[in-house]
Amino acid sequence: MKKVVKFGGSSLASAEQFQKVGEIIREDKSRRYVVPSAPGKRYPEDVKVTDMLYDCYHAAEEGKSFSSKFKRIRERYQEIIDGLHLDLSLEEEFRLIEQNFREKAGEDYAASRGEYLNGIIMACYLQMEFIDAAEVIFFDEEGAFDAEKTNKCLAERLDQAEYAVIPGFYGKSANGTIKTFSRGGSDITGSIVARAVNADIYENWTDVSGFLVTDPRIIKDPETIGTITYKELRELSYMGATVLHADAILPLRSAGIPINIRNTNRPKDKGTMIVESTCSKPKYTITGIAGKKGFASINIEKDMMNSEIGFGRKVLQVFEENGLSFEHVPSGIDTLTVFVHQDEFQEKEQSVIAGLHRAVNPDTIELESDLALIAVVGRGMKRTRGTAGRIFSALAHAHVNVKMIDQGSSELNIIIGVENRDFEAAIKAIYDIFVTVSL
Ligand code: ASP
Repeated sequence: MKKVVKFGGSSLASAEQFQKVGEIIREDKSRRYVVPSAPGKRYPEDVKVTDMLYDCYHAAEEGKSFSSKFKRIRERYQEIIDGLHLDLSLEEEFRLIEQNFREKAGEDYAASRGEYLNGIIMACYLQMEFIDAAEVIFFDEEGAFDAEKTNKCLAERLDQAEYAVIPGFYGKSANGTIKTFSRGGSDITGSIVARAVNADIYENWTDVSGFLVTDPRIIKDPETIGTITYKELRELSYMGATVLHADAILPLRSAGIPINIRNTNRPKDKGTMIVESTCSKPKYTITGIAGKKGFASINIEKDMMNSEIGFGRKVLQVFEENGLSFEHVPSGIDTLTVFVHQDEFQEKEQSVIAGLHRAVNPDTIELESDLALIAVVGRGMKRTRGTAGRIFSALAHAHVNVKMIDQGSSELNIIIGVENRDFEAAIKAIYDIFVTVSL
């Protein structure tokens, strides 16, 4: 049995948290490959080491004095080393990092040192081998993650290490410099490592006991999801559920390796299992509800549109030429609406409108802004009658006006567009009708 375990920043924010992590790892010998994040927040107003590093590096880049900022970062690590009573000095590492900051080694290099140093501490604490991610995780010439090269190199390297610590968040780019994934990217490293060693399970340890059915800022203490499929999760993460980085699913999808979200502060909780497929029925028809505000819609009308072959392609090409990706494209006989992110669209608005006029010569183009999209996701909706009915009657009772409905024939999700100001009320209404009433 081989397990890959990734620990998030809050699980490694202090010596005390490290001790909890140590207990978790020592408790199970199959927890063989450990991927740490950088130290996160110890309390709500605290600053993550990654943010401190960005801030410090920006000062260095601008030629300002950065020694006091640098000192505070050192102190965070020293506090952990002292608290764990480790015989470890990072003196030489810090000297080199400081020099590289001065020589402007790059923002990604700077940010990556958070996980790099935490990895060294973790390896010393657990007495495991330390493997620098820059030696085993690669990006290609275009800056994209190089899955093939990484998988081969990492598999070979880990074949020789029974136990190892591999810091999360970064790797090496084609030109030899350090490159990071996007924020929260240690989750991706964990998946990559799990894939390379063909792990039985990828445990992702964080500070919540799994995925919640919906956002706890909107619903107080929502239920936890027991089992969720990759596909469902992809939908929910994309729409704003943030426990796991959305790109962390991709490396595991084809390998069928399950991910278990666990809570470092409550290790007995089972957490959420993320699986390729499952026979287990979700508890409440729907698995989760997520959503985002800040969309705009472009409604294009043209008489006899439906008989004009190529209309949709021409419309979408205008968005492509303006570098905009579209979210949803519901259509009627003579109308086609394109949903986009408002902030991205705003800058290009007039260019898109002019482009649409040139491309398809529409009768009218109407714009609407301040819209929110809500995804109601669940494998349990397939072949279940009445789900849409329940959603829309709940929304009507809550006085929420529905602006858009989109359900593909996969029946995995129903996307609903509402005005930004109705967002919270809509989520609450949907949660209540599926979850609260069945409790
Ligand atoms: N430390 C990085 C961040 O704060 C990556 C991670 O924690 O996953 O984004």
